[in-house]
Amino acid sequence: MADKIKIAYLYEDLMNTYGDSGDVKILRYLLNQQGYQVDVDNVSLGDHFNADDYDFIFFGGGQDYEQTVVAKDLLRHAQTLGRYIENGKPMLAICGGYQLLGDYYKTSEGSVIKGLGILPLHTVFKPDSRMIGDTKYETEFGTVTAFENHSGRTYFDDKQKLKPLGKMIEGYGNNPEDGVEGMRYKNTIGSYSHGPILKNQNIAKAIANMIVKNHKARMGQPA
Ligand code: GLN
Repeated sequence: MADKIKIAYLYEDLMNTYGDSGDVKILRYLLNQQGYQVDVDNVSLGDHFNADDYDFIFFGGGQDYEQTVVAKDLLRHAQTLGRYIENGKPMLAICGGYQLLGDYYKTSEGSVIKGLGILPLHTVFKPDSRMIGDTKYETEFGTVTAFENHSGRTYFDDKQKLKPLGKMIEGYGNNPEDGVEGMRYKNTIGSYSHGPILKNQNIAKAIANMIVKNHKARMGQPA
């Protein structure tokens, strides 16, 4: 029987506006090529969820309304997700999902949506100046090209702990000031990149390798 990799897709039914499900399809393809079967569970409103049952967690982008609904339900999982991330297990969070890993996002009218508070970052929402367009940036995995579409501007609150995923060559990334895109903490990657981001094979292969490594550890198999 083929070995099964388990992926949790957080709120796939709600956070799916920007085509980020392509990231999971690409990972499935790469893992299938290595001989693994891949099961993807949609973890949604009210569902039971234990992060440690999974080899990889994916959290895509979404529109503001859905993001507000998801944010409330998500807080139930703060502990299990916090432990998963702290233990160095792999996760990819895009745009709205990335924003929700942080402390909060605040609209320009002043209302605050509480995030998971796992990573020291926050987002300020400016609907009048949306950041839309092609992006290109340099990462430890090589150059990445993608597309961004967001009003939220993300700022790190602890620059020792969080490292940017990349340095901008084209586009905005986290915000118009810092010249960086996304976030890396242990094996968790946050990014504003749609496209989907994993059409960039360098980063897709690196994440597939992290998943296999975590799977082997979870199954007690030799590395
Ligand atoms: N609604 C959020 C923003 O505009 C996230 C958008 C997204 O996920 N693409 O900042």
